[in-house]
Amino acid sequence: MLSGAADALAVVHEHILACTACPLHLRRTQAVPGTGPAGARIMAVGEGPGENEDRIGKPFVGAAGNVLTRLLESIGLRRDDIYITNVVKCRPPGNRDPEPAEMEACSTFLDAQIEIIRPDVILILGRHALARLLPGAGGITGLHGRRVVRGDRLYVPLYHPAAALYQASLMRTLEEDMLKVRGYLDEAEARRHHPQAAAPATSSQPAHPAEPPARDQLSLF
Ligand code: URA
Repeated sequence: MLSGAADALAVVHEHILACTACPLHLRRTQAVPGTGPAGARIMAVGEGPGENEDRIGKPFVGAAGNVLTRLLESIGLRRDDIYITNVVKCRPPGNRDPEPAEMEACSTFLDAQIEIIRPDVILILGRHALARLLPGAGGITGLHGRRVVRGDRLYVPLYHPAAALYQASLMRTLEEDMLKVRGYLDEAEARRHHPQAAAPATSSQPAHPAEPPARDQLSLF
């Protein structure tokens, strides 16, 4: 017997697997809805399935997935405890960037996944997920490793694990940003036990002097 959230998530997965809303369905082996528990406290959102994901039906199972798993484990998280998905659920041919219309066609699925899971934090993996989840917030260069609150959701943009495979210096940045994620999780946990505790001070943020100003509806803390 499935719980309410698991049940709802399973229905979303079924819709994704049968989706024909954009041309990406024509060339897929299968759609890749996402993996992880409906009760996950952390969600990670990447760009779109690659060749391995398309073949196996799970997100982040190739080289970038190994990096993601290692990064999660480096801060004491088990990959199986995280809900992992992508902005688009079908592989863009030749691993090209997903097009705006494809992201739009898939958007109800990602919105539904977030709404059902209600994670404490959403790790945004790379610039496409950033543009989709925090439109107008700024670029990944300025926002990576920072906490961004929009609406009632907490996001942490990170460089995409695949980018770190091609640019060694980004691996170091990703590792440092993951340590910040650990700190954010610890603070969130402490606040859960002591809800009256003060919100984190601005000074806890890394300095990004060149960062564009936050928009009204966006608060960085
Ligand atoms: N694999 C995924 O599932 N998503 C990405 O963004 C990259 C690799």
